[in-house]
Amino acid sequence: MVIRVRLAPSPTGNLHIGTARTAVFNWLFARHHGGQFILRVEDTDLERSRPEYTQNILDGLTWLGLTWDEGPFFQTERLDLYRQAIKTLLDKGLAYHCYCSEAELESMRAEQEARNEAPRYDNRHRNLTPEQQAAFQAEGRLPVIRFKIEDSREISWTDLVRGKVTWRGNDLGGDMVIARRAPVGEIGQPLYNFVVVVDDIDMKITHIIRGEDHVANTAKQILLYEALDAAMPEFAHTPLILSPAGKKLSKRDGVTSISDFQKMGYLPEALANYMTLLGWSPPDATQERFTLTEAAKQFGFERVNKAGAKFDWDKLNWLNSQYLHEMPADRLTDLLIPYWQEAGYKLDAEGDRPWLEQVSALIGASLARLDEAVPMTRYLFEPDMQFSEAAVTQLRQEGTATALQAVLTALSESIDLGEASAQEIIKQVVKTENLKKGLVMRSLRAALTTDMQGPDLIQSWLLLHQHNLDQLRLKSALALTV
Ligand code: GLU
Repeated sequence: MVIRVRLAPSPTGNLHIGTARTAVFNWLFARHHGGQFILRVEDTDLERSRPEYTQNILDGLTWLGLTWDEGPFFQTERLDLYRQAIKTLLDKGLAYHCYCSEAELESMRAEQEARNEAPRYDNRHRNLTPEQQAAFQAEGRLPVIRFKIEDSREISWTDLVRGKVTWRGNDLGGDMVIARRAPVGEIGQPLYNFVVVVDDIDMKITHIIRGEDHVANTAKQILLYEALDAAMPEFAHTPLILSPAGKKLSKRDGVTSISDFQKMGYLPEALANYMTLLGWSPPDATQERFTLTEAAKQFGFERVNKAGAKFDWDKLNWLNSQYLHEMPADRLTDLLIPYWQEAGYKLDAEGDRPWLEQVSALIGASLARLDEAVPMTRYLFEPDMQFSEAAVTQLRQEGTATALQAVLTALSESIDLGEASAQEIIKQVVKTENLKKGLVMRSLRAALTTDMQGPDLIQSWLLLHQHNLDQLRLKSALALTV
């Protein structure tokens, strides 16, 4: 059997971390079995679906490396297929027109609430006579189409993550709407639980891998598979992603869409690696770093947890920093340039490239996220930097002015500055001015980098020197000394 799985995102928002993690598990499962991963955009909710969300979802999946083998298919282009299936159910007597008005449904719910009962449709139009139907039609009522759900049914399946799951028919809310209101003879807009089954049957999906929030839908969908005489797929409901506090992850937790993670400077390989660990662990549980392809070799549902997976920022940051620390300077430069541009730095892509690569090499080992590069390197780009309080305190120390003046003099006399000559200048200043090396270094750090902490001092100096900023900075600093 060829394994076929699918991701079925609704384009009603940007690619959410939960959907992306579902995509990861689908992808891993497909690749593990040499199967196919299909992408289907569930855009039947016309009011809430937007093309820019579809684009965001496709871009996010591509960025993460979650390549798909077929699609993207769009449900709005497949309406004939759904109408055909609804006709089949109507013909078989498994679906019917329901003429209840919104007001009637509302009062039904209110009465149930008053009796402390769960809201449900009471199937009152299931067996209308042709005369009753004609009367409703004469009133101008537009019917929905409902699929019959027997209260007495028991629905079970063996979930690949959750084991045996059982639902009772009478917990499913009564006969379910599968198509919105439309004049009799036409078929209104078909709804999620129905079209998802028609598509999964048509696309020969063998395994339905999706979030745990769909468990109740699965019970209804199983009844639809039966009604449509289709082979039953396997189901795997993956645990939800929880906030660090253990609640369902929501917009209030801040970043939840993949494009936001991207903007914040997470790397696709680090985020994909992290999402793999959200609910799954490799057989060697100490192994934390791997590519998707490596994870696919070992992936199986026996190692997917039932319990919700807490989102752990520290772990994600740690993984991201691991990937960043090893990244060659040229790729890092490519990734950092947009951040520097966004910060307003005018870069000459050609001329500045070697300098930018040196900057990337300087900071690569200290980065946990790409966006940290901007505050970390501001002193290299901006001529008029304010000195930090700590730097000013250092500049006011005794001996600092002497040290900086001596360095400035030495600089004006040397033509080329390299690592060795910079070290030599420091050595000479220590000797001729009879100062402690620590003081000279601290003074230089304060003056050149405008702060007391930051990347390597000598390398920073050389980079400033290449842009003629070192003497300028030393002079501004001298003005603050006492
Ligand atoms: N469109 C549904 C969603 O985004 C798909 C659920 C499913 O995988 O069946 O939640």
